[in-house]
Amino acid sequence: MSFRTPDLWQTPIEFLKGVGPMRAEWLKGELGISTFDDLLQYYPFRHIDRTTFYKINQLNELQAYVQVVGKLLSLKLVGEGGKRRLVADFIDETGKMELVWFQGIKWVQSGLRLNEPYVVFGKPNFFKGQYNMAHPEMELLSEARSKPQGMRLHPVYNTTEKLKQKSIDSKAIAKMIWQLLELHGHQITENLPLTVRQQYQLMERTLAFRQVHFPSDPEKLEASRQRLKFEELFFLQFGLLSNKKRRLAGSRGHLFLKVGDFFNGFYKYHLPFELTEAQKRVLREIRADLGSGKQMNRLLQGDVGSGKTVVALLAMLLAADNGFQACIMAPTEILATQHHQSISEMLSGTGLEVGLLTGSTKIKERRRLHEALRSGELHFLVGTHALIEPEVAFQNLGLTIIDEQHRFGVAQRAALWAKNALSPHILVMTATPIPRTLAMTLYGDLDVSVIDELPKGRKPIKTLHANDSQRLRVFAFMREQIALGRQIYLVYPMIEESEKSDLKFLMDGYESVARAFPRPNYQLSIVHGRMKADDKQQEMSRFASGNTNIMVATTVIEVGVNVPNASVMVVENAERFGLSQLHQLRGRVGRGAEQSYCILMTGEKLSADAATRIKTMCETNDGFRIAEVDLQLRGPGDMAGTQQSGTLDFAIANITEDGELLRQARMALEQIFENDPQGQGLVVRTLELAYASMRHKHKNWSAIS
Ligand code: ADP
Ligand code: MG
Repeated sequence: MSFRTPDLWQTPIEFLKGVGPMRAEWLKGELGISTFDDLLQYYPFRHIDRTTFYKINQLNELQAYVQVVGKLLSLKLVGEGGKRRLVADFIDETGKMELVWFQGIKWVQSGLRLNEPYVVFGKPNFFKGQYNMAHPEMELLSEARSKPQGMRLHPVYNTTEKLKQKSIDSKAIAKMIWQLLELHGHQITENLPLTVRQQYQLMERTLAFRQVHFPSDPEKLEASRQRLKFEELFFLQFGLLSNKKRRLAGSRGHLFLKVGDFFNGFYKYHLPFELTEAQKRVLREIRADLGSGKQMNRLLQGDVGSGKTVVALLAMLLAADNGFQACIMAPTEILATQHHQSISEMLSGTGLEVGLLTGSTKIKERRRLHEALRSGELHFLVGTHALIEPEVAFQNLGLTIIDEQHRFGVAQRAALWAKNALSPHILVMTATPIPRTLAMTLYGDLDVSVIDELPKGRKPIKTLHANDSQRLRVFAFMREQIALGRQIYLVYPMIEESEKSDLKFLMDGYESVARAFPRPNYQLSIVHGRMKADDKQQEMSRFASGNTNIMVATTVIEVGVNVPNASVMVVENAERFGLSQLHQLRGRVGRGAEQSYCILMTGEKLSADAATRIKTMCETNDGFRIAEVDLQLRGPGDMAGTQQSGTLDFAIANITEDGELLRQARMALEQIFENDPQGQGLVVRTLELAYASMRHKHKNWSAIS
């Protein structure tokens, strides 16, 4: 494979024949096109079929843009002042229609000729008994025929009002791109290895660029798009995988070679249940990392309730066996407290202590923790962001676990890494199942473990949809469940914790629930984001210890809370929640042996998307399926965790639709790296050069994790 320097394609656009400095300035300002390469990759958003011609008697109003061949019979100016317009009678052998211009009348009029065959292109409207087209494109048939791209699929490009005023409309952009391809198309170099192109049947690159702009037929257009999408996904993955290789090559990690008394003792005597096969497999994967001498960077995905915490704890015990400290960072105080509690319980009798550090830890306790961490007396710490603060210094931090990863930014993760001279191993746990395609894109340089199995004996949660009008029946059901000894979550939307109306909604709801479930027969807890941490904690523990029957709350309880006796989740205004949020909320129940229920309350009228969300929830408990639907509904930009990543600004690929291509690109790359693990061969080195030449375009690609 030959390689040409990419310089030509970095040429400023003003040097393209027919562009010049002024137009270059506008193109840059309005569309971000500053180089040949930018223009080449300014893809049309659709094509207009100019292979088909219509007769006037075939027109109908449902048609989008169509073209008709015929002649101008007459041209006349009609109306006064602002209503002045130019009207032409246009005929073919089947009938007559009107062409109308409201602007640029003089200019249009002077350019048109009567009784000559024209190709007229526009959108047909039916008005007062006949068809008309406003501001159609007009081209002499003889000219249209002589143009090379004359009769094919015509590209349509996005442009702006400002550019249109400067006569840079879609057609003008097409012309520039045509020009670019005419002059320099032969200098487009292939950047995918031949073997890959053959294996995945990908169009050659030069041809792909020609066809994607000026296709000769719909099949070639599709093939060119596939090729260019593949290329984009391929190089994105190339960047991620090379990063990972570099990280592994350069990194040293703490060696956890021993499986000692802490781990074995716990496993034999304190583990309250048998691990699922999935938990065992993930634990093996983690142990292999910890013993590899490289720093672990692993993402642990597992649906809510799949039992990630105990896996985390076992990894922490390995750290302790090897003389290292370990910490867990959780996104909320409630969750940190919960982790602390369940880990303390599991550790009781092992002689190991676990500290809790959050924003509301009292000064005295804080000092004690700092001291114990520094001296190494304290092995384990659980906490919130408070862990990142500079006063928190470890004697020898070997493992950091980050729960519910999407709430933490990259910078926060980095701060934790710096807590030891040699970076600790990192295990990122997330309960938000990310579709595989997205995981590959976002976390391409992390290793991924999946717990894809729930502990035995869990009964699938039954999910029901109820209207507001069925509220009394829902309350009756809640009473039945309470009579059976169960506890209930009742969740209100508080999308923005600052929204006053949401708080009022919650308080009103609380009052009406309090009336329907009066003391002393019923006890209620309430938790929302505006409460003091202490109060929140107290309400949570009253519920967790079974002293209250109903927990009225906002989504602060969304993540991680574990009260096995709670078996009913009622969500108010469920239409206001996103799918992943609903799934998280539902995951708060179904943790004990009892049949659990999730009741989604909504108003009578639902938007199409909301209806799909509710229906999906009622149909499945599978977090990965839910994530797929979520991705379809919202697009990748809004998926949890992707907002700041900037990884999703593709020029042509679409992560929602192109999962299969992404998978293929990944496979192709894995094959390449397998054949050349050192990356010293020609193929990898050539790919590196190609990647370097496109990096400026995707600054964000390198900033992932
Ligand atoms: P998540 O993955 O959502 O963090 P947790 O770690 O909170 O899930 O576990 C959910 C519940 O399942 C906890 O009560 C935990 O003790 C229990 N659990 C975890 N693993 C098993 C297992 N292998 N068998 C039975 N129960 C388990
Ligand atoms: Mg959890």
